[in-house]
Amino acid sequence: LSSSSLSRVLHLINNARKIVVFTGAGISTNCGIPDFRSSDGIYALVEKEYNLPYPEAVFDISYFYREPGPFFQLSSHLFTSEVSPSLSHNFIAWLEEQSKLELVITQNIDMLHTRAGNSRVFQCHGTYTTATCTGCGKNFLLSDIEEDLKAGKPPRCPACTGIVKPDIVFFGEQLPARFYQLYDNPPESDLILVLGTSLSVQPAASLAVNLARKTTSIIINNEATDYDSLFTHVVRSDTDEFCESAWEYMKNGETGE
Ligand SMILES: [Zn+2]
Repeated sequence: LSSSSLSRVLHLINNARKIVVFTGAGISTNCGIPDFRSSDGIYALVEKEYNLPYPEAVFDISYFYREPGPFFQLSSHLFTSEVSPSLSHNFIAWLEEQSKLELVITQNIDMLHTRAGNSRVFQCHGTYTTATCTGCGKNFLLSDIEEDLKAGKPPRCPACTGIVKPDIVFFGEQLPARFYQLYDNPPESDLILVLGTSLSVQPAASLAVNLARKTTSIIINNEATDYDSLFTHVVRSDTDEFCESAWEYMKNGETGE
């Protein structure tokens, strides 16, 4: 990216008033959370360490019903490791503080946007903050099952002894209804920022693409995606490096140009 097009991108972000941010695993890799598909990513790890028929089985709903153990083993890392938000998360939280953020849509299940301070967050692949018994359908809060999650063992429903599953969307499950509402009725926005995703997981990627088609759009990712040509601007960069530049630019904006 030439410095003139970088400054155009920064100028766009600085002037936007209703930004919709769409994020993927790339914004959390600097926090020590592995992404899914790289050579030291989650799927490579579970393939080595867990006894799975294929790596994606860890998030496959029919496999989960037969063998819930690996999912809970993997989840324990989220609740026991010292993980804190990245500069990108903090920048996005700051955008909300500045009343420039309409919504964060994230594919991530690591809860780091909320921890960074964002309240306008939609987790399109679900959340650990609530859970549902796979036996009787009873609803639980994270606090009810957190001990078991930390220990990496499947929580049991006190009513029916069924396994309590966090409300994470598995392969083979539908995304939350709000996902389809956002698809049909996109939030009002003057800029869409897509950060740290290769847009390879459907149907989440199709929402980002649909939003990008409707307004000025910027994708910031460290590798090319199949949809780059649909974006107004493409920035090939680590998201933290980019967000650091944007943050500096905006903080100096009032005294700058
Ligand atoms: Zn139950």
